[in-house]
Amino acid sequence: MKILVFISIVLVAFCFMEFMAWFSHKYVMHGFMWKFHKDHHQKVSRWLPIELNDIFVVIYAVPSWLFIMYGVMDGYDYKLPIGIGILLYGFAYFFVHEIIVHNRLKWNFKSENKYMRAVRRAHKVHHSYLQKDPSDNFGFVFLIPSKYFKDSFKEE
Ligand SMILES: [Zn+2]
Ligand SMILES: [Zn+2]
Repeated sequence: MKILVFISIVLVAFCFMEFMAWFSHKYVMHGFMWKFHKDHHQKVSRWLPIELNDIFVVIYAVPSWLFIMYGVMDGYDYKLPIGIGILLYGFAYFFVHEIIVHNRLKWNFKSENKYMRAVRRAHKVHHSYLQKDPSDNFGFVFLIPSKYFKDSFKEE
């Protein structure tokens, strides 16, 4: 496979995953699986700093693993870049959502980078809703309303 084709498939898979994350956040996590997402909106203290909501990370790790494994087993075919795209999205999601927005690793990474400020604000608005419905701003990495990017890029 040509390197440009490989990179294009990685990028498409990455972008598709943001759509999947937006879709499942809006229609599944704030839908019939709300009971697994609820503790991400209404904090409960547990002896371990994990949430029921973290199950979604495990769920999304499975297709990434299978695509990479079968992609390698089938002679490094198109499935490999799909799996890598999903994996890279997982890292981006973890960085934006867990580290930048929720500070779960306690790194206190307070960047005033315009992009990070926009995604942080958009997701904080999402968290201003404590209930399943209504809510807003379901995207994580880039599928957020453009006004957040516009406002952030206008400011200093
Ligand atoms: Zn939510
Ligand atoms: Zn969140």
